[in-house]
Amino acid sequence: MIPPGETIGILGGGQLGRMLAMAAARLGYRCHVYAPEAEAIAAEVCAQFTQAAWDDAEAMAAFAADCAVVTYEFENVPVAPLKALGQVPLLPGAHALEVAQDRLSEKRFVADLGGVTAPFHVVDTAGDLAEALVSVGSPGILKTRREGYDGKGQWRIMADHDADGIALSGEPLLFEGFIHFTSEFSVILCRGQDGRIVFWDSAENTHEGGILARSVVPAGEQVLAQVPAARELAARVADALGYVGVLTLEFFATAAGPVFNEMAPRVHNSGHWTIEGALTSQFENHIRAICGLPLGATDLAAPHVEMRNVIGDAAEDWDTILADPANHLHLYGKAAARPGRKMGHVTRLGW
Ligand code: AMP
Repeated sequence: MIPPGETIGILGGGQLGRMLAMAAARLGYRCHVYAPEAEAIAAEVCAQFTQAAWDDAEAMAAFAADCAVVTYEFENVPVAPLKALGQVPLLPGAHALEVAQDRLSEKRFVADLGGVTAPFHVVDTAGDLAEALVSVGSPGILKTRREGYDGKGQWRIMADHDADGIALSGEPLLFEGFIHFTSEFSVILCRGQDGRIVFWDSAENTHEGGILARSVVPAGEQVLAQVPAARELAARVADALGYVGVLTLEFFATAAGPVFNEMAPRVHNSGHWTIEGALTSQFENHIRAICGLPLGATDLAAPHVEMRNVIGDAAEDWDTILADPANHLHLYGKAAARPGRKMGHVTRLGW
């Protein structure tokens, strides 16, 4: 067990790290952020910040020497340089990162455990894309296997001729059949070091332009009927990875049951509502799990909870948002409000 007062290392400097650090501080821990970028909004709420490249082994080793445990808030941290952490535990482990960094490996991993995924075909060349259009068929979505997020690195191919103009860059891609879903939802769990798993209520998620716009709890009837099967699969994934901490799986609810879309080996945007809406938030339970503390209760704090993302220049309306006393506003301290950039979120509890 890592007692309060010790230092937790966080790889990645974004809003997830910021909210993890705030939960850690509440429990009496210090945090040390490691990130390559100068504008690391997590570092603003941490005791220590190392700004260094991922492959700077010397900086990584010095960072590890300050930490009792290291975690990550960003799933695209390159795995090889993490050797420099030496004996300091990395939780969740490097294997979870490896699996989740590649859409192909995560789909295979989940399918091997009995999960249903969209039909898919690996695309490295124009010939592969032609094959994919035969084997999977249109409509579908061509996605980068690595580093895509918030709908970036995706091309919708509604009919075969949409593929004509696509210039393949040579990076590994995956073509996925289009899933006709009725709704989208996520399963967020936390697995402790003793293997015990707790789940939060599944939020029903609405995306706009590939970006999460809104998460609502409780989800609708159709989602609720699919949650038990999705949870069972998520628990199998967590057990198979020997996972410690918060893990998120995203699903499409379809007439034939839950279809796995992707997973994130970390706290998740669709779980931000848990800060006010659950007895223990995803951030606090992640800290508890990686430090070997008992996990907190995940029950709802109100019968209805809604979280909306504040995207781009919508953050300028902070005063209007705060004028409604029921709104809990979280702003992440990002300097530039670029279109599509997640600047904050607002949570409302309802009775
Ligand atoms: P992703 O980056 O895979 O989470 O995709 C972003 C969003 O695009 C998802 O939340 C869905 O709304 C949509 N999407 C992704 N893949 C598919 C698919 N195979 N079929 C239908 N919609 C999809």
